[in-house]
Amino acid sequence: MAHSEATMPSLGAKSDALVQQSESFGAHNYHPLPVVIATAKGVWVEDPEGRRYMDFLSAYSAVNQGHRHPKIIGALKAQADRCTLTSRAFYNDKMGDFLEKLCRYTGYEMALPMNTGAEAVETALKMARMWGHKVKGVPDGKQEIICVEENFHGRTITIISFSTDPDAKKCYGPWTPGFTVIPYDDAQALERAITPNTVAFLVEPIQGEAGVHVPSEGYLRQVREICTKHSVLMIADEVQTGFCRTGKKFACDHEGVRPDAMCLGKALGGGVFPVSAVVADRKALGVFTPGTHGSTFGGNPLGAAVAIAALEVLEEEKLDQRAEELGELVRSELKKISCPKITQVRGKGLLNAVVFEEGFEAWDVCVALKEKGLLAKQTHGNIIRFAPPLVITRDEVMHAIGIIREVFTAI
Ligand SMILES: *Cc1c(COP(=O)(O)O)cnc(C)c1O
Repeated sequence: MAHSEATMPSLGAKSDALVQQSESFGAHNYHPLPVVIATAKGVWVEDPEGRRYMDFLSAYSAVNQGHRHPKIIGALKAQADRCTLTSRAFYNDKMGDFLEKLCRYTGYEMALPMNTGAEAVETALKMARMWGHKVKGVPDGKQEIICVEENFHGRTITIISFSTDPDAKKCYGPWTPGFTVIPYDDAQALERAITPNTVAFLVEPIQGEAGVHVPSEGYLRQVREICTKHSVLMIADEVQTGFCRTGKKFACDHEGVRPDAMCLGKALGGGVFPVSAVVADRKALGVFTPGTHGSTFGGNPLGAAVAIAALEVLEEEKLDQRAEELGELVRSELKKISCPKITQVRGKGLLNAVVFEEGFEAWDVCVALKEKGLLAKQTHGNIIRFAPPLVITRDEVMHAIGIIREVFTAI
């Protein structure tokens, strides 16, 4: 916590007390920017002192529909007055509508509802191992899954077992076996790594946490072909890239690629409630039988009602088109800013990043952006991600660019 203690200016009596409270009672597994958010609406958030900020992180793309979208909050309130939780021991009258809506939206035959992104990934891994044994005929215990360097798929022990980020992984052994890690954006490496026991390839179509790594054009299509050829499930983790963030419904759509399964989360809950899912066709998701997997809260009617509204907002407000158009604007404006320390501006739709030279510490830049009213967070020290809610207007984009220009030109 060296940063916050050394560089944290006083935020105001209320904010200071709230930061102090979180730091003294909470485990220190995060290093937040020194700002406290009390209220939020659309693209804007406000601190207890009444200062307003534009949210350019969107809770890592969980708030694509904007903070407290009225339709989503309306669905939450209405469902809260009817029924909130049944468990899967019984049916409820919202889960079916949710699953049907999600299957129609994604174009898959089945969905399995969970709560968090990590749970969706765990579900896909279990599905792949079971499919590998029951359908592909790999001996149980021998199933292999291929992943890539600099992946981010969540925080469970199994998921961090194939992480290449030492902070995420070290001290958590023994790690779960059965995973092979290959370079990202290298289809030949995938083909070389496949063995008769390989059941799946798990990949982010754009690596968000790694710093918005967009693979070369054609990579996902080649991956699709290789997976089909070797009877390996292609599993796309679209937890961060899905639901219009990159300018299409899903990032795989940019290459017209249909994975065998997608892991979904974040914006599926409309920034309101944790809702995640795996979608796939019957041949893969159909392997689960009663008792083989589950979740107490998965498919709960409150989350289902919220997710239905969250999907409707994406469609009704054509947030895919909006992200595509405004994303072009954001990148072209960012590229115009003159700052010798910037080496690259990259991204797709409204998932963008500015990369500073190796070794540059972007923390102070994020603090300066915050002082001027824009919230963004650096990743890997030298990369700042800019990912506002997709409901942002053109005027709001230009306002934000003004702030970013002012801060970047002063570096
Ligand atoms: C955020 C994220 C996850 C994990 O989601 P949680 O809800 O935090 O468990 C998994 N995959 C990707 C690509 C993510 O960005």
